Amino acid sequence: MRAAARAGRSCIECGKPINATRSDMHYCGNECRQAAYRKRKRAGKQARGFKCEAVEHGYE
Ligand SMILES: [Zn+2]
Repeated sequence: MRAAARAGRSCIECGKPINATRSDMHYCGNECRQAAYRKRKRAGKQARGFKCEAVEHGYE
């Protein structure tokens, strides 16, 4: 079985492996999360009805 594929998540921003226990982590750290958040905010200004993954966890 490829359990490693599940356990070894990688940051969707920089591609580094994430060493977090939380399953909803998409980033390796706050830096990447904020960087992606800024990008998203910038790019998706008019994409309001867009359903993204719960990236804004812990934000607001
Ligand atoms: Zn990262």
